[in-house]
Amino acid sequence: MNYKIAIDGPSSSGKSTVAKLLAKKLSFVYVDTGAMYRAMGLYFIINKISCDDEGNIEKSLQDINIDIKYVNGEQQIYLNSENVTDLIRTDLVSKYASVSSAYLKVREKLVAIQRELGQKNNVIMDGRDIGTVVLPDATLKIYLTASQEERVERRYKELKQKDSSILKEDVEGGMIERDYRDTHRENSPLKKAEDAIVVDTTKLSIEEVVDVILKLFIEKRGNYNEKIK
Ligand code: C5P
Repeated sequence: MNYKIAIDGPSSSGKSTVAKLLAKKLSFVYVDTGAMYRAMGLYFIINKISCDDEGNIEKSLQDINIDIKYVNGEQQIYLNSENVTDLIRTDLVSKYASVSSAYLKVREKLVAIQRELGQKNNVIMDGRDIGTVVLPDATLKIYLTASQEERVERRYKELKQKDSSILKEDVEGGMIERDYRDTHRENSPLKKAEDAIVVDTTKLSIEEVVDVILKLFIEKRGNYNEKIK
């Protein structure tokens, strides 16, 4: 049996930053599931398949191979054998990932890969449906949140580094739309798992969030080990 930490939450709540640091501290494998949906979105963009064309998306799934590899502990995402890690952090890819991830067949394909990773490794996995669908038996489930204002600010800062002409109101609009879609879709909507612990990161530093989650994990791990003794 291995340990699994599930972190879910809306965009820019700090999931990936915190999960990466925790993975390092615990020597766990970090799985950024959003990157998988993004790599798929990139495929649809490259192949001119509209992100709301469910029929063609389903047909194309057999041609899409998503792979994860680790280089110096960092997750690298491969789309049909090409490393696309540096190509998936744009607003267009965010939109494609968000719209196409609502389709059941897309989710089934990626959830199977995610579960396999969770079976083979001690993992810390972040996304939208990790505690509810992918790893319902996770040792610890966290629901990470932050105020909308703070999340917009974080995302704006991140995107501004790549594109200085980006407008905050566009970042905010895109984020509201995406979060709405993620929480209102029929298949695996973003929601807090019943047994997840909410951590609000609005007023906390990254180190403080890592510390809180680490303490919660150590506590859960103790209880878990007692149970299986
Ligand atoms: O986390 P990130 O912003 O990279 O995710 C991109 C999009 O992929 C999300 O907006 C969401 O629609 C989708 N996603 C998902 N389930 C996950 C992870 C991401 O539906 N487990």
